[in-house]
Amino acid sequence: IEGVTKVQVAMTAERRPPRLIVVGSGKGGVGKSTFSANLAVAMHRAGRKVGLVDADIYGPSQPRLFDCEDVKPTARDDKLVPVPNDYGVPLLSMGHIVPQGQAIAWRGPMAGKALDQLINAQWGDITDIIVDLPPGTGDVQLSMLQKHKPAGAVIVSTPQDLALMDAVRAISLFEQGSIPIIGLIENMAGYVCPHCGELSDPFGIGGAEAAAKSMNLPFLGRVPLDMVIRRSSDAGVPPASGEGLISDSFAAIAGRIST
Ligand code: ADP
Repeated sequence: IEGVTKVQVAMTAERRPPRLIVVGSGKGGVGKSTFSANLAVAMHRAGRKVGLVDADIYGPSQPRLFDCEDVKPTARDDKLVPVPNDYGVPLLSMGHIVPQGQAIAWRGPMAGKALDQLINAQWGDITDIIVDLPPGTGDVQLSMLQKHKPAGAVIVSTPQDLALMDAVRAISLFEQGSIPIIGLIENMAGYVCPHCGELSDPFGIGGAEAAAKSMNLPFLGRVPLDMVIRRSSDAGVPPASGEGLISDSFAAIAGRIST
């Protein structure tokens, strides 16, 4: 009996590494970083222990979205300690370790090493890490797939055909790496005019849902194009931390990403 107890103690003492959920898009500007930040906040509000890695080497934006641009992570036992914030989502970003303006000159191995530092950090009791990938299908994505083996990928697209075509490319990269696609998100779907309340569809609507259907992939939901999202994000307050339709839409999507 003594032996069994020792084995059990050893098993509980050794934490499982956090599950990695990558968020990708075919191209930039579709709202991938905004979505990643708010997905993490919504998951935290649903009671999950979630962290966030900003792996977007070309344009790290998470420190701005969480208003912690000037905070530098500390290190313990040669590993980075994620930066906490008011929204319960500890964060590590390429922006924390890449000197401003130099990222673009990085070659694959350098980017891969930086990514390792963000993933193999002091994540404590975090069980899920949302990883905001750079757009497209480059070195960071490859190193993510081959080395860190994420549990699944969420793809963000706008309803536009072009963004969707790019999204399909990103999807095929994950599929080649045998990473399950958790589903597609349609961002900037429908615009509510702040003056007259009229709903218009500057980028069309339903494109990502139709694409998901045709590829036999789950559709996880849509987030409207809303000035409140842009304003709140720019001010470093993730809109998913508020109340109302916007935070509800992030909460609904988070609920569809199972534990
Ligand atoms: P990406 O990571 O794909 O490059 P970002 O998340 O940086 O895109 O978003 C690009 C811009 O669009 C940002 O200014 C952001 O605030 C804004 N944005 C993203 N999603 C929405 C939305 N649903 N409604 C309004 N603005 C949005």
